Amino acid sequence: MSVTLGFQSPTQLLIDGKWVDGEGRRTLVVENPATQQEVARIADGTPKDARAAVEAAVQAFASWRQTSVYERSRLLRRWFDLVEQDRENLARLMTIENGKPLSEADAEVTYAASFIEWFAEEAKRAYGRTVPATRAEKRILVLRSPVGVVAAITPWNFPAAMITRKVAPAIAAGCAVVLKPASQTPLTALRLGELLEQAGAPAGLLNIVTSSQARKIADVWLDDARVRKITFTGSTGVGKFLMERAAGNMQRLSLELGGQAPFVVFADADLGVTLDALMVAKFRNGGQSCIAANRVLVEEGIVDEFLVKASERVRGLRVGQGLEPGVAVGPMIDAVGREKVMEHIEDALARGARLTAGGSALPGAGYFVEPTLLADVNSDMKIMHEETFGPVIAVTTFQTEKQAVEIANATEFGLAAYLFTQDAGRAWRVAEALDYGVIGLNDGLPSTSQAPFGGFKESGIGREGAQEGLDGFLETKYVSWGSVGIGLGG
Ligand code: NAP
Repeated sequence: MSVTLGFQSPTQLLIDGKWVDGEGRRTLVVENPATQQEVARIADGTPKDARAAVEAAVQAFASWRQTSVYERSRLLRRWFDLVEQDRENLARLMTIENGKPLSEADAEVTYAASFIEWFAEEAKRAYGRTVPATRAEKRILVLRSPVGVVAAITPWNFPAAMITRKVAPAIAAGCAVVLKPASQTPLTALRLGELLEQAGAPAGLLNIVTSSQARKIADVWLDDARVRKITFTGSTGVGKFLMERAAGNMQRLSLELGGQAPFVVFADADLGVTLDALMVAKFRNGGQSCIAANRVLVEEGIVDEFLVKASERVRGLRVGQGLEPGVAVGPMIDAVGREKVMEHIEDALARGARLTAGGSALPGAGYFVEPTLLADVNSDMKIMHEETFGPVIAVTTFQTEKQAVEIANATEFGLAAYLFTQDAGRAWRVAEALDYGVIGLNDGLPSTSQAPFGGFKESGIGREGAQEGLDGFLETKYVSWGSVGIGLGG
């Protein structure tokens, strides 16, 4: 079974190195959110398939853990090269199943591949250490070992990068993986799996179970003590569920969850730089990004100029199908996503916000919402507390540095915050005072494979990317060697 989109791409489950229909032989429809048309039918995996995936991963782990880091690095490097070569197809798949503009999908291929490249190198740096012991005849060695079989569950908003950010470090560490990608964007995941197979991955190193039964698949993996780590990116609600359930087998957890990013603009900021950054921080992926700027806090003295210039830019954004040239904003992923965005807009307007651009859902096929700017937003409005996940800028004002930080930190989330100022002292003070894991300082696009990405508070646990991203798949073990002796013999 394969889907034809001008090229062949897999639609079956990947288990133990084989493409299979799955136990139930049922299928799941993949839809294009820009047209609401069926794009493909893929295998709809069942709990039995999820168990078969674990069996395969357990077998693969037994030998993969014994490979040298250089062998792992070479496999990842070959995967990286194949992903780069397949750039056009991967980008097209992402635009078709997620809706994002093709240029953004192309940028996501670069971003996704960068994790594979980074961890191909970082594999070689899983260093241990020796520690001076309290007794002269003893030696203490600290070793790093792979955590074991890893279960990864990923969202639809970055269909490629959220997978490589987990699978590449897991493979680098010596782990085997069972993956359940989002049911709305499975085609990108399956193609990445096919490319890893072509790179020469041993059977069972990566197993992919696409399914409409996320909870049941997760239950199988949570109940199996041989699965030693759950790595999840998605909503905070599902993250909390997984955390509770993982306690049963004390599985390790990494959780990359929701955000409610403040975007703080001081009067001394360079307004051109700030607005360029805001367009990216807000409208990338139609605002459906965990680090999307949700609340824009502008110092009172410059708010009028800010609103005029920002509204002009927002009105200039072209909305449409991602495959059309010049489109800057695609559709929301589905009707539920669009409803939530409209609910935030309507709630803000009912409570006194002022519309300066957009404000409506577009009629016809596709889940489109106009790029929108709301002024005079206040803390009673939903948009100031919940993640909007849509193309809406909500502007509120502040008077002092202290007040800006208080408003910015007034949320249970703590993923990303943005800060715009040309005053170096203020930049340090405010960056240190913000309770967030990622700070964009005069930067609207802080995500990168070399930096440790993750959130404070309800935005998650653990970090992905950088050295920390590899650490998440390693256990620490020490060997206390009691009888080395003192001085030289003979
Ligand atoms: P979601 O509903 O939590 O889904 C994420 C994944 O979990 C999907 O594969 C989904 O499967 C699966 N899932 C759903 N219910 C589950 C359950 N009870 N048990 C186990 N798995 C379950 O989130 P989403 O709407 O796809 O993604 C948007 C959220 O992800 C936003 O909150 C966003 O901020 C967050 N996010 C965070 C980061 C970060 O790095 N912090 C990055 C990207 C996105 P189905 O697709 O089959 O439902």
